[in-house]
Amino acid sequence: MNARTSAFLRSGILGAILVLGASSSTSAAQIVGGVRIIDRSVEEGLELCVVNTNLAAITLTITVKPDNARTDHPMPMIVSVPGPGTHPFTRLRPIQTDSDFGYRVRYDWLFGAREATHDSAHIYQLPFASGRQFEVVQGFHGSFTHGGNDDFAVDFGMPEGTPIHAAREGVVEIVVDRFDKGGLDPNLRDSVNFVLVRQADGTYAEYVHLRRKGAKVKPGQAVKAGDLIGLSGNTGYTRGPHLHFAVFRAIDGQRRETFPMRFRSRENPAAEPIEGTAYTAP
Ligand SMILES: [Zn+2]
Repeated sequence: MNARTSAFLRSGILGAILVLGASSSTSAAQIVGGVRIIDRSVEEGLELCVVNTNLAAITLTITVKPDNARTDHPMPMIVSVPGPGTHPFTRLRPIQTDSDFGYRVRYDWLFGAREATHDSAHIYQLPFASGRQFEVVQGFHGSFTHGGNDDFAVDFGMPEGTPIHAAREGVVEIVVDRFDKGGLDPNLRDSVNFVLVRQADGTYAEYVHLRRKGAKVKPGQAVKAGDLIGLSGNTGYTRGPHLHFAVFRAIDGQRRETFPMRFRSRENPAAEPIEGTAYTAP
């Protein structure tokens, strides 16, 4: 999933701030939203804060351009916010205190914490029911969409409505299942259903392309490996019904690192998924 970009301009004297702004966005964090930058008055000027209303951690790249003011930090800043709340990240101090001052801010964000380190010894369960077998239709570094932010993602081809089970325990933090459309149209990237689970090592697992109203979990819910997460589908940018699964951390507000993972199957006790190979859940 992609990052969201927003920008706005604020200027004025303390207590009479005029919003002149605009925002733009390109992406899938947009599907969820719930992230903004606010300021609040402090004795020496303004304190700038990230407001996150999502349960999940987010990471932002923020550039503040002050006008007749200076910030406490060099820009751009990479800011990781562990969860919901209002998180101060810098202060803006006017240079000439008898004149107006203001700032412009631009930020990109995506889900995930920067600090997470993946436990590469962990063996994942296949994300479907015991006894079922599905083929990896796109593996790590897959040429269709598995590069960059999705380098170590895996796609299992499966009919819509297939029960999806947690590959590893964690806490469900983001659930989107309101979308209905899917197909080979990049514009559909922004209308994809998915579930994000925060895992014990701080990484997130994503279960993507679920069917409309196909989520069987709620934000805040703890899941064990094997618990039902939802029903697969074909929403968003896809070339056919499948489950996209990836484990990741954030690098900055635009980039994330996905991690290779190994699965336990009837065919192999611990193997990285190979494109074109079918695996059976034990
Ligand atoms: Zn994929």
